[in-house]
Amino acid sequence: MKWNIIPQKFVADSMLGKFAKKLRLLGVDIKFFPDIEDSQLIKIALSERRILISSDRALCKRKIIRGMCFHLKNENLEEEIEIFLKEFKNTIEIKPFSRCMICNSPLINIQKENVIHLVPPYVYKNHDNFKKCPTCNRIYWKGTHMEKMEDFLEKILKNLKS
Ligand SMILES: [Zn+2]
Repeated sequence: MKWNIIPQKFVADSMLGKFAKKLRLLGVDIKFFPDIEDSQLIKIALSERRILISSDRALCKRKIIRGMCFHLKNENLEEEIEIFLKEFKNTIEIKPFSRCMICNSPLINIQKENVIHLVPPYVYKNHDNFKKCPTCNRIYWKGTHMEKMEDFLEKILKNLKS
């Protein structure tokens, strides 16, 4: 299939919450709602020109969403991400540490001195780069969570090349 809008934006079905959060860690714009009707998903996909990522094969086959739905089996998270990246790596921009994993908003930089009362003391002591979500106010830093994600990403991208 050919995906011709770049950079691609997505909306995931309600089975794919963990997958959506991981993709946001990579900087991918992907909407997700834990509880949503198929008709609403389709509406969002069409009106915002987002590719629908769905674990429901029948949904993907509906005429109305033809050419705008990618079927992803909901089995193993690592596999899901690998399959997704294989399909879309040329149409997305991978920018780890740039998007809120909770609400999908792009993060903004925040000065270290401004987070002193917002993060645990050991985090403040050990990190210099902080970002903030302008929508939900969550503070992000490159902790082990992000480092693990980067290792994982590196492994996948290496596999995709070979
Ligand atoms: Zn947020």
